[in-house]
Amino acid sequence: MTIHDPAILAEPGSWRSRDLAVVWHPCTQMREQAGELPMLEVARGDGAWLVGHDGRRTLDAVSSWWTNIHGHAEPRIAEAVARQARTLEHVILAGATHPGAVELAERLLALAPRQPGRAPLTKVFYADNGSAGVEVALKMAFQWFRNRGDEPRRTKFAALSNGYHGETIGALSVGDIPLYRRVYAPLLLEAMFTPSPDAYLAAPGQSAAACAEDAADALARLFDDHPGEFCALILEPRLQCAGGMRMHDPVYLKRARELCDVHGVFLIADEIATGFGRTGTMFACEQAGIMPDLMCLSKGLTGGFLPLAAVLATEAIYDGFLDDTRERAFLHSHSYTGNPLACAAALASLDIFASDDVVARNRVTAAKMAALAAPFASLPHVADVRQAGMVVAFELARDGNRATPFAASDKVGLRAHREAIERGVLLRPLGDILYWMPPYCIDDDQLALLAETTAAAIAAGTCA
Ligand code: PMP
Repeated sequence: MTIHDPAILAEPGSWRSRDLAVVWHPCTQMREQAGELPMLEVARGDGAWLVGHDGRRTLDAVSSWWTNIHGHAEPRIAEAVARQARTLEHVILAGATHPGAVELAERLLALAPRQPGRAPLTKVFYADNGSAGVEVALKMAFQWFRNRGDEPRRTKFAALSNGYHGETIGALSVGDIPLYRRVYAPLLLEAMFTPSPDAYLAAPGQSAAACAEDAADALARLFDDHPGEFCALILEPRLQCAGGMRMHDPVYLKRARELCDVHGVFLIADEIATGFGRTGTMFACEQAGIMPDLMCLSKGLTGGFLPLAAVLATEAIYDGFLDDTRERAFLHSHSYTGNPLACAAALASLDIFASDDVVARNRVTAAKMAALAAPFASLPHVADVRQAGMVVAFELARDGNRATPFAASDKVGLRAHREAIERGVLLRPLGDILYWMPPYCIDDDQLALLAETTAAAIAAGTCA
């Protein structure tokens, strides 16, 4: 049987059984997947919809792991990729170039955050997924000091508690989610964690800004306690996604930028999930009026079509690798670095940002999301409703009390997920946190379905 075999239409469940025989799924307990965890059998995508072989539609409320921004199978991106595939599918990017890699670098640098008085980001290094992009940034920061040779103790990374930067060993080392990290702890490189400015952790009555200031004070103490030891601080600006869609006040980013400057530490902004309009501005750093020394992009970069990452660097960082010997060069590569198909998708996505005025349109959609989300705050098991642009999160806790989260054995998230799937929405909660992070093209009817389904999912997940 092939994917084109009409017999498949008559056999709901057949893809699931073939899948379970041979596919090992990402971030999944396969025993659970074979049991109570639903599996969508997807035939095609259509805007914010995932469409099954039987024609059943499911709303992709999580943008397929936060990658999809303009909708599935977006015709303009599809056409750009198809055109590129007929022209040049791939070429080695060492000792060769192609128009897509050059044009995309030019356009990303033109869009990148700027900060008065700072030299802009001027160079782009490509990788092929978010974690690989984070590895690139970490290695660049580390090697920059090695190349200079005058500060041999600058080998450590600072990172935020509850942060997430990917699954490869370097990226995992600067992540702080025990579930993903714990088992690999003996393999990980040296990172030190500083308290997250997460507004959910604010003391009763404390503002998000005051909570962020406290966290910045803690960062100052960490830097003071380890003078000359850090090469970089890495953080997810505005929004810690995998950590439960936790949000912080932009003042933290301002303070972190200043502290990095005072202590001679590079600031790495992981905008892999927040970039490309997700939190209300093209890049989240803009909300604090700061620019990083290194900025990691992926996910929405190609509109969700193809894996690609870009690491934007300052000229000062680039300069630190120039020499007459190869040893000081950045000898990092991936076979698919700067893949032309992925670059074509990314360029088409940037065209859509311009032609459809996406960031402005998102503001209107985000306001509708806010209105739909507001009533959830008074539901008995909702401890927090928060929003950053096109992301809304609902934190569930027993009796709506932050101090009494549900037990893992309550399987609140799983039950909510199953209910939502049955009602035609892919919510895929993070533990007991339900969130909306839909493709930007979501329309009013789809938003209404999302809100209605979320209410039902919360009820199903939290009923005893
Ligand atoms: N950084 C952040 C902030 C992310 O959210 C993710 C992915 N969820 C990554 C890095 C890793 O990206 P990838 O899954 O493409 O390796």
